[in-house]
Order: sequence, then C-alpha cells, then structure tokens
Amino acid sequence: MRDLTMLAPEPLISRPFVDVDLEELAAESARLESCAAGDVVRWAWERFGTGVFVAASFQDTVLIDVAVRAVPEIEVVFLDTGYHFAETMWFVERVRERYDLNLTMMQPLVEPDDLWQVDQNECCAIRKVEPLARALAGRSAWMTGLRRSEAPTRATSPIAHLDVGRGVVKVNPIATWTDLDVSGYIADNDLLEHPLTHRGYPSIGCWPCTQPVREGDDPRAGRWAGSGKTECGLHGWPDPAQRR
Ligand code: SF4
Repeated sequence: MRDLTMLAPEPLISRPFVDVDLEELAAESARLESCAAGDVVRWAWERFGTGVFVAASFQDTVLIDVAVRAVPEIEVVFLDTGYHFAETMWFVERVRERYDLNLTMMQPLVEPDDLWQVDQNECCAIRKVEPLARALAGRSAWMTGLRRSEAPTRATSPIAHLDVGRGVVKVNPIATWTDLDVSGYIADNDLLEHPLTHRGYPSIGCWPCTQPVREGDDPRAGRWAGSGKTECGLHGWPDPAQRR
C-alpha cells in the first residue's frame, strides 16, 4: 500500500468524530425512511448547513436534481480521478450549466500513472478515497446517491448514519429508491442523461475499470469486471488513519 502521508500537502491526522448523538441519529434515520428524498436533503441542510455536501458520480443527475430543488445553493463535489470518460467530463459541464451548480472538483494528488493496471484498490484509494477525505476536512456530513437495491453490499444502508471510517455523518437520501423509481424520476422530470447510459453503461466509473453490460445483466457487472472488486472504497470503512 502506497503511503498516503507522502502524497498529502500536510501530514494526515486523525480528527475527532462529528459531535452527534448516535441514538438520536438512528431515530432520525428511522423517521426519514418514510420522507421524500428532498425532505432528507432539507433535514441534512438544516442540521449541518454548509458542513454537508453532495458527492455525485454524474452517472445520472437524480440526486443532484433532488438536492438542488430542496437546497439550490448546496455544494456538489465531483471526484475527478483523471480517468473519467470524455463523455463524463462533457456531461459534468452540461449539468453544471443546467443547474448553475455550486460544484467543487476534487483531483488526486498524483499525475496519471499505470497503477490501475496492477493494483486497483490502491488506485481507488489514491484517486477517490483520499480526495474525498480532503473534501471532508472540516465538514460534518456528506450525502450520496447510494441505493439499497444497487448491490447486496448496500442492501442495509440507513438513510443517515455515522460514517465510522471518516468520523462524519453519511446521508443517503435515495437509499430506498428502486431502479424503477430512478428511471421514472428521470423521465418525469426530463433529466439530462449521460451519453453512455444508452450505449450499454448503466453504471459508469473510470474508463479503465468500466465495461458495457448486456441487457438484463447486473447493472454494476461492468465495474472492475472479472476482478472480484465491487466497491471503490467510498462506501466501505477506510482505515481511520486516513481520516483528516
Ligand atoms: Fe483507478 Fe479504476 Fe479505481 Fe478509477 S475505478 S480510481 S481507474 S482503479
């Protein structure tokens, strides 16, 4: 594992967990189960203010649309790994223009290399996990578009919980949404669609690690296909030593 302390502008330090009552957070999460996604976003905004942002992959704009309707000024963070499809970077600009997004692009601290060919876990750690940790410095919470129906590893995700590895609250406003909910929302609200969506890419990440899938396949089957890897580390529990 590459020593991330060599890549950071200052030594990585452990920071205290956000000041939150875990019982109260669990009760709020249970209450939010039956609320609309926009209400979840508003709850997070009222609770954390500018201490919360939306992390968006830009494979679709559902969470962005929900979030901006609820809180127009909310910050959206995109982890620009340096390996996104050209179509994704083009799409980010289109979405930024459409919503006049308060967008922050986070880049890795290293130039493009060949690490993705030999160690995808370390590549994700450097190009996704570490930039997210930097984005979360001084923050209390982040919001994601994670959904329970996407993968078995996500099936029990709460609406809001303590992200133990990062010491902040993680909020998943559309955790309860099915694939049908997502496609219905996109159609009903005439959302912009990523140009690769209808070219066999229902799940879109970095170009070296994303392949098109066949009709009826698991939508995430094209991510790190054949490697056994299913998550990039953003939704796992990173080493607490990487918290900042
Ligand atoms: Fe690297 Fe692939 Fe992870 Fe992107 S998805 S950061 S290219 S290993």
